Amino acid sequence: NQSEDKLIEYMDELEFLAFTAGASVDKRFTQRLTQPDSKTFVGKGKMEEIRDYVKEQKIGTVIFDDELSPSQLKNLEREMEVKVLDRTNLILDIFAQRAQTSYARTQVELAQYQYLLPRLTRMWTHLERQKGGIGMRGPGETEIETDRRIIRDRITLLKDKLKVIDKQMGTQRNNRGKMVRTALVGYTNVGKSTLMNALSKSDVFAENKLFATLDTTVRKVVIGNLPFLLTDTVGFIRKLPTQLVESFKSTLDEVREADLLIHVVDISHESFEDHVNSVNEILQEIDAHQKPMIMVFNKIDDFSYEKKDEDDLTPGSNKNISLEEWMKTWMAKSKFPTVFISALTKENFPEMKKMIYDEVHRIHISRFPYND
Ligand code: GDP
Repeated sequence: NQSEDKLIEYMDELEFLAFTAGASVDKRFTQRLTQPDSKTFVGKGKMEEIRDYVKEQKIGTVIFDDELSPSQLKNLEREMEVKVLDRTNLILDIFAQRAQTSYARTQVELAQYQYLLPRLTRMWTHLERQKGGIGMRGPGETEIETDRRIIRDRITLLKDKLKVIDKQMGTQRNNRGKMVRTALVGYTNVGKSTLMNALSKSDVFAENKLFATLDTTVRKVVIGNLPFLLTDTVGFIRKLPTQLVESFKSTLDEVREADLLIHVVDISHESFEDHVNSVNEILQEIDAHQKPMIMVFNKIDDFSYEKKDEDDLTPGSNKNISLEEWMKTWMAKSKFPTVFISALTKENFPEMKKMIYDEVHRIHISRFPYND
């Protein structure tokens, strides 16, 4: 059943997020509801089931794959007597752990405060009881005991601080001259940093965890005597918290102001089509969806395919489609140039480089028609 498959994939992703944040997952609970319960998100029976399990197994935290309303969060914690995290808080926590520069830290801090503000009463009581752990990092430890007004002041302050940095970054971008600007975009963990390293022979942090890159890296790359700029930026994810989209404005400006997008897809991932859709949605959200783009399907070395009998097929599963067959699907009809590579083994790199060169060259020529 297709929606069952989706459910498993969503839970897999949530578990990977939890792992990235430093937690290990003990058990999964799912429930089919036409819409979430307004008070407790899950139904009463399910909540009791989770509560009993948590008590019995001495589980420390329950994580929900959605953003809970402040009252849902409060009710769940009160009823289940355990720390409750929602997807937004989990992602914010990962961002907080990963923020390397003061700029990234400021952006994450702002997003965290915006998340925190309507949930302040709940954080208060719980900070008294249990300190530390996932979702408790960053703002919270010191300022939480004070009051909402101080948090609001802090938000204003951070916004002002970001405005100043945003302006500086804008100037910096303008000073980068006339070189064509390309940006790597894609779902988190698809191999953007690995590709960046391979193309620019630099040493950008790549890791099999989500959101290894929060800060923007810009490198000069030369293909066939044509220099251009390549930017690696924060990975996208399904249900990216809106607070983060907002406060990462300047980081996302790199994408918004790029001349060419290189959309990297992890084709070895079962849900790669969903990932493509999520990325396109976010591009639309930041108004960058009409730019020239190259689709780079990465990790072909890891693409596994087994031909199964017709009756054996899970509907909606990717696993019984070969790479050659995939290439004939919507990919063939894509209005964007498309290439299949492995950033790891560098398979098909010449083809990809030619494709990037052609696009960059085309943009370059349109800008300087007389001196090429
Ligand atoms: P990013 O989050 O998109 O920047 O992804 P990274 O570059 O950090 O890569 C995520 C993980 O995928 C790392 O463990 C990489 O080693 C791995 N990876 C990247 N490219 C490939 C590839 O072509 N094949 C395989 N098998 N793994 C890859």
